[in-house]
Amino acid sequence: MKAIRYQEFGGPEVLKYEDVPDPVLREDQVLIRVKACALNHLDLWCRKGLPGVKLPHINGSDVAGDVVEAGEYVTGLKAGERVLLAPMVFCNRCAECTAGRQNMCRDYSVLGYLNDGGNCELLAISPVNVIPVPQELTYDEAASVPLVFLTAWHMLHGRARVKAGDVVLVLAGGSGVGVAAIQIAKLAGATVIATAGSEAKLDQSRELGADFTIHHYQQKISDEVKKITGKRGVDIVIEHVGQATFEESMKSLRPGGTLVTCGATTGAEAKFDLRFLFSRQLSLLGSYMGTMGELHEVLGHVFSGRLKPVVDKTYPLREARAAHERLEKKEQFGKVVLNP
Ligand SMILES: [Zn+2]
Repeated sequence: MKAIRYQEFGGPEVLKYEDVPDPVLREDQVLIRVKACALNHLDLWCRKGLPGVKLPHINGSDVAGDVVEAGEYVTGLKAGERVLLAPMVFCNRCAECTAGRQNMCRDYSVLGYLNDGGNCELLAISPVNVIPVPQELTYDEAASVPLVFLTAWHMLHGRARVKAGDVVLVLAGGSGVGVAAIQIAKLAGATVIATAGSEAKLDQSRELGADFTIHHYQQKISDEVKKITGKRGVDIVIEHVGQATFEESMKSLRPGGTLVTCGATTGAEAKFDLRFLFSRQLSLLGSYMGTMGELHEVLGHVFSGRLKPVVDKTYPLREARAAHERLEKKEQFGKVVLNP
């Protein structure tokens, strides 16, 4: 089969479109023909060289496609079914997994990080990952959902316990997590303030439901939040930008507010004043992906149309390099998708 693979870490130029061996289907697995695979920042980090990534490596966490064949031990899935894949791997046997807390499993990882992912034509995977999708959803749309909607759902519901009436600040409203977080917070009955780096992305954030927007290159986030909230601050901040915005995010919280973070796109060294943290009784929460239960819950809302995937642009698989460059330059609004 064809795949985008790299033999060394580096810039987008290390991505090579080449022939690789077809996966060998085990009897307890399902063989998937990949029709669409969405990019995440993780793809860029892996390509640049992340601990644990083995070379040669095939990226890709967000997969939609067709079932080609189900192994002998697999029931309930048949050839031709349109599916998406849960974007994670876990042992499915330990105390955490069996209690439904897969993202606490010692073996938990993102699909396409420590193992090969979906930037290819065929993938053999455990049936627990395989989730049928309704006809109304295109492959590109289906691939745009799993990782970011799961992440945003776990951040807002699993961690920050969002409720109706909350004011939620979403950093980088045009990012994959941003477009999911805006919609999930609105669905929960919250008021949403979104930041973005261009007028076009501010408009698109409002179209998705953001009540207020802040241009994060031209305006000071915490000042604008104070104006919008009448000096009160927000109940929840959804962070994944990291170093560049962390201090501003902290300053945007109301006393007793919660910051939840799932990433560090601009750098991992965050600075804040501990006195500010304790005197204002703030909560700082980490969040990593989510559970299978949360994935099924958020997919229910996507499949019924209450949450909408946002496809930014699609590229043929062989043009993965251009797709990486688009994400790297932050040109996208929503998900950049590869089509094998
Ligand atoms: Zn486990």
